[in-house]
This record gives sequence, C-alpha cells and structure tokens, in this order.
Amino acid sequence: MTELTLINPADETVIATVPAFDAPQTDAAIARAKQAQRSWARLSPADRAAALRRFADAVDGAVEELAQLEVRNSGHPIASARWEAGHVRDVLEYYAGAPERLFGRQIPVAGGLDVTFHEPIGVVGVITPWNFPMTIASWGFAPALAAGNAVLLKPAEWTPLTSLRLAELALEAGLPEGLFQVLPGEGRVVGDRLVEHPDVRKIAFTGSTATGTAIMAKAAAQVKQVTLELGGKSANIVFADSDLEKAAATAPYGVFDNAGQDCCARSRILVERSVYERFMELLEPAVAGVRVGDPADAGTEMGPLVSRQHFEKVASYVPDDAPVAFRGTAPDGPGFWFPPTVLTPSDPNDRTVVDEIFGPVVVVLPFDDEADAIRLANASRYGLSGSVWTRDLARGIRVSRAIESGNLSVNSHSSVRYTTPFGGYKQSGIGRELGPDAPLAFTETKNVFIAVEEN
Ligand code: ADP
Repeated sequence: MTELTLINPADETVIATVPAFDAPQTDAAIARAKQAQRSWARLSPADRAAALRRFADAVDGAVEELAQLEVRNSGHPIASARWEAGHVRDVLEYYAGAPERLFGRQIPVAGGLDVTFHEPIGVVGVITPWNFPMTIASWGFAPALAAGNAVLLKPAEWTPLTSLRLAELALEAGLPEGLFQVLPGEGRVVGDRLVEHPDVRKIAFTGSTATGTAIMAKAAAQVKQVTLELGGKSANIVFADSDLEKAAATAPYGVFDNAGQDCCARSRILVERSVYERFMELLEPAVAGVRVGDPADAGTEMGPLVSRQHFEKVASYVPDDAPVAFRGTAPDGPGFWFPPTVLTPSDPNDRTVVDEIFGPVVVVLPFDDEADAIRLANASRYGLSGSVWTRDLARGIRVSRAIESGNLSVNSHSSVRYTTPFGGYKQSGIGRELGPDAPLAFTETKNVFIAVEEN
C-alpha cells in the first residue's frame, strides 16, 4: 500500500489520500529522530519547557482547524472534537512544566554523595488507534518530549489527519526538525518497524489487546520497554440506594460517547435487582434522547462509527434475534450509522457480555448484593475503568477498591483528566499515562555515587 484513502464516516465520501511510509522511510525517520534527540536533550530544561509552551500555543491557535479535521476524518461530533483539540493544548501545557521538575533524589549513603537522574530513553515510538487520534497521541508525545526524547508517532491507518497537522504545528512552533515526526502507514509495516528497530527504545501503544500482545512479544526480543493501553469492558454498577434518575440519565453517555468507540466505555450496566425494572424504565427515554446525527452540528452528541469494516464488526453483535430491550435513533442513508442499543442477555457468558464491542451497544445485567456486583464487575479479562452509583460513600470507596480496574469513578463517569494517572489492570494494559508521573515512564533512572574523600 503506497497511500491511505480516507473516508468521511458520516457520508462515505473520500476526503483525502495520504502517502504511506514504507520500512526504508521509517528507518530514515528513526535516524533523523536519533540525531534530533541528542541536541534536544542537551537544551536547558527551561528552553525545552519554552518550546513545549510554544507548541501548546500553536495548538491553541489551531483548535478549530484540528476539530474540523477530526469531524471529517473520524466522524466525531464537533463539540467533542473541539474538546479533544483543547485537551491536546492542555496536555502540552501541563507537561511543559515537566522539564524543570524532573527531580532526582539524593540518597544517604556512606562515603559520598548519591544522586539519581531521570535520563531520556532516546527515540520513542507512539502507536495510536483511530478512536481518539489526537488526544491519545498527545498522552504519548507530550510527556515523552518533555522528558527529553524524540517521538515517532504512527497514527492509525484510517485517521492520520490531525496527527499530521500536529507535526506541522510543532515545526511552526520551533521544535527542531526530526524531533517529532508523524509516520502515516500500515501497522504491520511502519508500526512493526518501530517495534523491531533497535534504535527505538520504547513503544507507547494504544489499541487492541491482540495487537498489544503481539507488540509486547516482539519487544521482548530486545527487552524494549512498552506501555500498553488496550481494551476494556467496564462496569457501571448501580446500587438501589443511588440517585437512580441521575444514574439512568447519565448511563447512555458513559457508554455511547464517541459512538461507544472508547476503551473506557461502561459497556456493562450492572443494576441491583430490586431497582432493575425501575432503572430500565428510566433508561429507555435517556437512550432515546441521545442526539445522533450530523457530526458538524453543534448539538450532536453521537456520530457514526469510524468505517464500514468496523460497522460490520459492531453489527455482528446485534443479529435479528438479539435480546434488544430498546434502541435509540440514527440517521438513514450513507454513513456508518448505528443506533444506541441496549441488550439484556440472559447468559452472563454471552459474547456481548464478554467481548469489547467498541460500538454503541450496552448490556444490562441484574445483581443481588454488593459482593455479587464486585464478582460480576471483575468477571472480565479487562480492567480499565468503571463507575459506582451509590449514596453510601463508604460503599462507594469499598467497591472502588475491590474492582480490578485502573480508573474508577463514584457517582460520575469521568475517567480521563490529564492531571491524573490513566491505565488498566489485567489485559487492559501495562503502565500508566497522564498525571504527574507520566514523564518518568519515558526516562531511565540513573544512579550516580560520588566518593567524598576524608580530610
Ligand atoms: P484496532 O484498534 O483497529 O483493532 P489495532 O489495535 O491493530 O487496531 O491498531 C492500533 C494501532 O496499531 C494502529 O496504528 C495500527 O496501525 C497499529 N498496528 C497494527 N498492527 C501492528 C503491528 N503488528 N505492529 C505495530 N503496530 C501495529
């Protein structure tokens, strides 16, 4: 494949073709990055911080442009896309504070002075999925650059446009040539080369558990570091003592945001049996009320799925005889439209309960008591996020502590803030992104002992 053909998911028109990198071009990019990294790491911390702030300013000036690109390339509703572009600016701004705060430690030892340094790893590969192209990219490149690394970003085949624009903005903001490069192309060509090339010393990957597993296995051959953000099948647990109206009104947004193409989607709603019927009565109008339509419309809450191929996969989970409780709406005509869909499977091992569907499909299951809710929530190979709805704060804390997931919220569905760590348990991943420690994941800790001679 020499080029990528990009399709607008809302109307199926071709919006652009983008040249795809091949393996030799990837190698050349790695060589340029290696060069650029050396001078970047030699800059003073204040100068690196200033460069990142200029990059944040450039993104700030391009928020609307980036948002419009994401609307056309990924079908995200414009309101979400604007938030995403603003988030990239904020992530850059936040990590612009890091170069001057990469503190080592002074450790008391006999006979001298012992200090630790957080040295850059070198060249880092960031491989991103198509669901949140620019935000997820920034979670990798911003802290990695802040820690003194060069970054090669491999965007997903279907959604490279915002990443390509971000690379241009970095250059316009004065980041050195070669330091932050975007390499559009196929995963098995460009992505694979990044994993395989000895000069790329770390891979930060976000995507499917299957691909993440393959990357980890391959990286093992060189003892290459990996951070993996993979799939999820998160639980939204609704206790009888919760604000049931609020829990029902917000549940659709906890799973159907970005048309369910979100690794944090609360795609299993677990409801205490005594309020199950009432909850379903409240959920139905909430699902019907999700505004699905033209992503360019500021009032739209949910757009189409990203591609025909992905639509077919999601649709395979809702055959004609599926246990559909109720569905929301979706436009007719061209575009990969799939209505919000609520399923009530009777078998807790049904594939709709077990698999990450990554579309606007949610299953609702009853539970008996707190222990049963925890058991059901943890009955998954994934462990990324989850929500707990209860008015009993002690229970909220107990259940959050008991769930094997990296990101829990009590009486809300929030999970991603750039100031707090994000990542998964079990097959949802390894390592954490965001939060104050993210730059450390892009460093090697070096310990230096300096002998102090006796007088
Ligand atoms: P999806 O999210 O569509 O299931 P993946 O997890 O395979 O897909 O894709 C996430 C990212 O990983 C994309 O940028 C894709 O190109 C890339 N990728 C796919 N296969 C490989 C591979 N073998 N090595 C490295 N990167 C890959």
